[in-house]
Amino acid sequence: MTRTALIAAMQEELAALLPAIDGARIEHRGGRAFWLGRLGGHEVVAVRSGIGKVAAAITATLLIDHYEASRMLFLGVAGGIGAGVQVGDVVVADALLQHDMDASPIFPRHEVPLTGLARFPVDAPFSDAVARGAEAALGQHADTAALLGHGSRLHRGLIVSGDRFVSTAAESQALREALPDALAVEMEGAAVAQVCHSFGTPLAVVRSISDRADDTAHVDFGLFLNKVAGPLGLAIVQQALG
Ligand code: SAH
Repeated sequence: MTRTALIAAMQEELAALLPAIDGARIEHRGGRAFWLGRLGGHEVVAVRSGIGKVAAAITATLLIDHYEASRMLFLGVAGGIGAGVQVGDVVVADALLQHDMDASPIFPRHEVPLTGLARFPVDAPFSDAVARGAEAALGQHADTAALLGHGSRLHRGLIVSGDRFVSTAAESQALREALPDALAVEMEGAAVAQVCHSFGTPLAVVRSISDRADDTAHVDFGLFLNKVAGPLGLAIVQQALG
């Protein structure tokens, strides 16, 4: 059986998705509510992880080891840090890195000690399917473009994660300098990628851009989260799962 795990950090990101699950059965484990059922003809398990790398890692481990997820899709919002990554755009990860991991000089900066890796991989075919789904969802969501006053674009590349809400221009500039190819910053994806790498579970991560991780990030973040993140996330999942 193929069971797709759907994870988001916050309730707002998952709220539109949960009612779309047919025959949902809810199980509680480790302080989390796991929704098991079917979505678009696929067996799914959906759960809110909570915010941050540890919360995300606990959740991903339970999904794989207890709920036997055969692949994982993390969705949610993120701050845009790459040039041209604007609010309302969507980023599909092609690798994930923990920007606050630093055991230098013993290990290279950003490398997770004893794994030999700084950049954790995603599953290419699943990420391709998610990117196609996101493209289709953006096409459907003309109202998002209207709300934002510009069209939304799909980007693919590096997403970086750390236990910090990046909300000053100085901090996002420092991230750009340390990691020039990073497109977006959030707080969970790279932790989930490390867990999936440990277990050999295919992963895709898709983030809609809620803010530019700058001095107005907290305001932009709240508006986007409440108005756009939920429906856009549902549309992406429906399109990606087909
Ligand atoms: N003040 C918020 C805190 C949310 S933390 C609250 O009251 O809930 C931000 C969440 O959105 C995290 O799950 C993270 O993955 C994502 N995110 C969006 N923009 C971000 C940014 N600029 N920096 C870090 N994470 C961001």
